[in-house]
Amino acid sequence: VRTEVRTLIIGSGIAGLFAALRAASLGSVMLVTKASLSESNTRYAQGGIAAVLFPDDSIESHIADTLAAGAGLCNEDAVRVLCSEGPARIHDLLSLGVAFDRDASGAGLARGMEAAHASARVIHAGGDATGLEVQRGLEAAVRAAGVTIREHTYLTDLITTDRSVRGARFVDTQNAELTVFADATILATGGAGQTFRFTTNPRVATGDGVAAAFRAGAAIADAEMYQFHPTLLTGPRPFLVSEAVRGEGAVLRNARGERFMLDRHPMAELAPRDVVARAIAEEIANQDGQPVLLDATAFDATFLARRFPTIDQHCRAMGLDWSETPIPVTPAAHFWMGGVLTDTWGRTSLDRLYAIGEVASSGVHGANRLASNSLLEGLVFGDRAVRGLAGDPARPPRTDPEASVAVDLRSEHDETAPGFGTEDLRRLAWDELGLVRNAHGLRVADKQLALWVSALTESRTPGQREARNLLTVARLIATSASLRQESRGAHFRSDYPLRAQGAPAHTVIAQLT
Ligand SMILES: Cc1cc2nc3c(=O)[nH]c(=O)nc-3n(C[C@H](O)[C@H](O)[C@H](O)COP(=O)(O)OP(=O)(O)OC[C@H]3O[C@@H](n4cnc5c(N)ncnc54)[C@H](O)[C@@H]3O)c2cc1C
Repeated sequence: VRTEVRTLIIGSGIAGLFAALRAASLGSVMLVTKASLSESNTRYAQGGIAAVLFPDDSIESHIADTLAAGAGLCNEDAVRVLCSEGPARIHDLLSLGVAFDRDASGAGLARGMEAAHASARVIHAGGDATGLEVQRGLEAAVRAAGVTIREHTYLTDLITTDRSVRGARFVDTQNAELTVFADATILATGGAGQTFRFTTNPRVATGDGVAAAFRAGAAIADAEMYQFHPTLLTGPRPFLVSEAVRGEGAVLRNARGERFMLDRHPMAELAPRDVVARAIAEEIANQDGQPVLLDATAFDATFLARRFPTIDQHCRAMGLDWSETPIPVTPAAHFWMGGVLTDTWGRTSLDRLYAIGEVASSGVHGANRLASNSLLEGLVFGDRAVRGLAGDPARPPRTDPEASVAVDLRSEHDETAPGFGTEDLRRLAWDELGLVRNAHGLRVADKQLALWVSALTESRTPGQREARNLLTVARLIATSASLRQESRGAHFRSDYPLRAQGAPAHTVIAQLT
């Protein structure tokens, strides 16, 4: 099937849904997504959305916190856009009927504190079910706006002529092909947590958008910057335990019962995510791989059930009473700061191709994302991409592909090369591209990944295509991590443990053509 639309949007998380809603006023919109409309990282978001909505807070303070977390790698213009336009986008959600939690009086919004924020500026819904409520509200609005929706339809490749993107190709669950031509193509395909053995991300997060953009010739920025969430509940059904739990006052303890964060950072458990995640990883290594403990026993069961209903239910389903006993946690791949290089209007280095939300790298998160800034990013840049393309979808891109390093990640097919399973890949990525990296491990990873690429045969099913994309993502991370010979934010190299003065501002790579 071949079809033509004004705006093609790929992905149905917060970024894709919000952009679709905005684009509906410009002409025909098609929203294509690989699972059901409601499946995304967005729907699992717990803690909330950060924005300046209270009189004792300020845009400058939100900017300062975001820049500090970003460890010198943020694009300040992008951060200013995020923090200044954020409050208006939250009001847009409120007008759409998204039910954020109210304070005790019922008159104002309830507010939470999260790590590395100077002010309690995180609003939430359903206690700790913020993403689900946002996803529900946006889905209802998108359906009402008359957007054409194609579910269970998988992006395979972008259609490109002379560095200009003309649409995309998809397959459905029956492997039937769909070709969509569009004036503007917006990637909103989210992150790639499935690259790693431990992740908070759902199964759909396989980096398909970044891999397709890379194959089409788009520049990819800061791929080495992957954020690991400090606290994934371990066990048969791993589950994210929101930062907001520590925000409320829960503490971390090692097997000896000691609060190990007190010695590591002035903000202790509320230090930036990378600091907490690495400290936990170190403690786990020191206690023979046993998880550390998150201690929320200072709270009573009623409070925990009311403030964190989703986590509470999950713990109880696992037979854990977290008001009585500390729960076991490990770090896990959570959020990709890197992705398709964009400017502050979501424009990529390819004409007519836009990227918004987690698939993009606008420089808004730098080397480390501030908690609760990513849902906000989806809203702000989803809105701006559509505002930008409303002017002229064919306007030349602003990003500077000249600054990128050309790499060739293709390998000749080798029939004798051993094939791989996704689990092998995820284990390798966790061990060599995870929380702590070094030159030796990066070389091991690079060699193995290249071998696996040479074993690839033509991908037919979405599962095979996902595996190929995960390989591409892992190679992008390995290549960028080798280029960045320093430690900064989420990227830690044991052979270069300090931040380097003359380090490259950004690692930008593109497929050699
Ligand atoms: C457990 C968890 C908790 C979190 N908590 C918070 C929080 O409290 N606050 C916060 O700000 N952030 C939080 N985050 C991060 C945040 O949820 C994500 O960064 C954000 O939702 C990304 O939104 P997005 O629209 O860019 O992508 P997503 O929400 O991931 O949506 C991507 C969409 O693209 C689709 N897609 C992917 N590949 C293809 C393909 N090949 N073809 C077609 N469709 C495709 C997917 O199916 C999905 O619909 C959390 C993340 C997780 C996993």
